[in-house]
Amino acid sequence: MPGMEAKDIKIHGANLDKAVRDKLPTDHITSILGRLKSDVVATEQILRETKIGMIVNKLRGHSEKAVAELAKEIVNKWKKDVSIKPKSGSSSDAKGEVAMKKESSTNGAASGRDSSNKSTPTPTPARKTGGGSSVDPMKRNKQTDNINYNIYDDDVRNRAVGMIYDGMVIGADATPDDIFKLAQETETQLFMLHHKKTDGQYRARLRSIYFNLKDTKNPNLRKNVWSGRIEPHRLASMTSEEMASAERKREDEKIEQENMKEAMVAKAPTSVTDQLQCGKCKRKNVSYSQAQTRSADEPMTTFCECLQCGHRWKFS
Ligand SMILES: [Zn+2]
Repeated sequence: MPGMEAKDIKIHGANLDKAVRDKLPTDHITSILGRLKSDVVATEQILRETKIGMIVNKLRGHSEKAVAELAKEIVNKWKKDVSIKPKSGSSSDAKGEVAMKKESSTNGAASGRDSSNKSTPTPTPARKTGGGSSVDPMKRNKQTDNINYNIYDDDVRNRAVGMIYDGMVIGADATPDDIFKLAQETETQLFMLHHKKTDGQYRARLRSIYFNLKDTKNPNLRKNVWSGRIEPHRLASMTSEEMASAERKREDEKIEQENMKEAMVAKAPTSVTDQLQCGKCKRKNVSYSQAQTRSADEPMTTFCECLQCGHRWKFS
């Protein structure tokens, strides 16, 4: 059964805790761990909700090697489970692009067939203001750049080209000509995607493209468009989420990882165990707590203090 449910994980956790406390035979403990290892697909939420991360994590310091080893394996596996999502997120720019390219190459083929009857009028070249313009790049728009965007017999489309230009040109070094070409091509792709209709869907997507382009918190989208990393046909078909800033994605990942750490360790209070032996007085009355040190990739460190003699040590 892939992915044990939270309530079952809780039951296994409670059983595990009890088995350890009652010092049941090692193979009893390892069999519960084995179940957890094979059937739990860890997510941050599962770990947090069931506290299973903390329960298993504690066992990394268990005196029975078989238990400790298995607990370590599980913790490592769960860390991987949890990190799969953010990892795919961080590379989603590149992957997304490949996926989109595949998708749009079929679109491209379709619109290629279409292109014979696509009566795109030759656009009037936008007037060059040149790089020597005195306008603050952040304040560029179709007016400051003297763009003639009335290139179609269709006012909706003309305004769309103008809007895309306004969103795209903010902060750009490129000439009005170059930006205009990109804006015009983006509108053409958008128009094609909507079966040459300027209907509500066309306009909704246009607004989405416009607002995402001009988002000051999302300069990467514009940069990717200028550089050609995001081509007009792709831009025309991107969802708002896909357009969302890379920075924001990175922030989300960071928060996710912090939460993960917290779910695994931060709430682990100092506990007392008779499973750990003091190296000095050899008694087994030890309090311990665990904390993530440095990066999430490194093993968790267990801090121990002997309650008999006060000897302190740590292991990871
Ligand atoms: Zn001691």
